Amino acid sequence: MLSTLKTIETPHGNIETPCFFPVFHINKRGSGSCPKYWNEIPEQKSMLLNAYAIKKSEKFKRILSGGLENYLHFKGIFFVDSGGLQSRLYNIQMDPIEMLRIQEKIGADIAATLDLPVLVNDNISAFNHAEQIKTTVRNAVTALENREREDMRLYAVIHGNDIKVMINTIDYLKKKGDFDGYAIGGLIFKRSDFRTLIDLIIALRKRAGEKPLHVFGLGGPLMIPLLTYLGVDSFDSSSYLSAGSNRVYFAPEYGSFEFQEIKPLQVLPCVCPVCSKNTFEEIRSQRRLIGMHNLWMIAYELRKLKMHIQENDLEPYLDYRFMNNPLIKVAFKYAKGRVRGFV
Ligand SMILES: [Zn+2]
Repeated sequence: MLSTLKTIETPHGNIETPCFFPVFHINKRGSGSCPKYWNEIPEQKSMLLNAYAIKKSEKFKRILSGGLENYLHFKGIFFVDSGGLQSRLYNIQMDPIEMLRIQEKIGADIAATLDLPVLVNDNISAFNHAEQIKTTVRNAVTALENREREDMRLYAVIHGNDIKVMINTIDYLKKKGDFDGYAIGGLIFKRSDFRTLIDLIIALRKRAGEKPLHVFGLGGPLMIPLLTYLGVDSFDSSSYLSAGSNRVYFAPEYGSFEFQEIKPLQVLPCVCPVCSKNTFEEIRSQRRLIGMHNLWMIAYELRKLKMHIQENDLEPYLDYRFMNNPLIKVAFKYAKGRVRGFV
């Protein structure tokens, strides 16, 4: 069994895994774009932010001097990503030490090192691929050597389009220093290739040893249970919100559906506080309510996963959980074979 329950100690308190970090967008004007879920879901006291977006916001100086906790009036656990994807997509030069200092000063509990993402169309034999991986590795080592806050957890970001290269990367980083965890980037572009995704995560999980493993961007209602089974400890996603704006509702026990696919009901088939207090029409028409319901569904899933890990019956639960989704059912069958060493 690769999945375990872990407690990660951070300056703002402990977090129990498997856990979820909702993506919190700080926009240019410095305001956030998601509901204050932390006042409603008792165990959801964490978020993922982007250091580059914070640097670009009008409120950067204020956030830098007072910290995220004061700015957001939220005493939670802040996972701060560097913004490497932006640097790659918009060709912006970023300095790993500058990004580290921002992460430290704004009060990050967990910080991801500055990466240079490898995109899916980057050929592994091309010069670019090797150079990007080298830069990502160099940035991670630079951050470890230059960190000033020892209490901040530092996760090295791993990238690549090839399992062997990624295994070598993690082995190299382990030799270079004691990172607090590892975060895999760029998998969102590979999510439809289940076999590669499963092989890759199993390999990296084994290589990471006891250290926490985070996967960037894959935090949907079916991905979380599958990746938890493969030993991933934490997830982040903005899909609860983007699903909200597209009017996609995470259905309890099933997958998800779009409101236009079903005929109106008096109440939705869910017992979360949002669906208990609001009508079908009220929820359908308000992005914030759909987003909150979707977050409740992620919390519900994680509660179940924790119980089944503890009771050591995760496999039968997931057989049942994936029963109605042919694609993920096949993926899970393959994953079980790999985890048991049959494939
Ligand atoms: Zn609900």
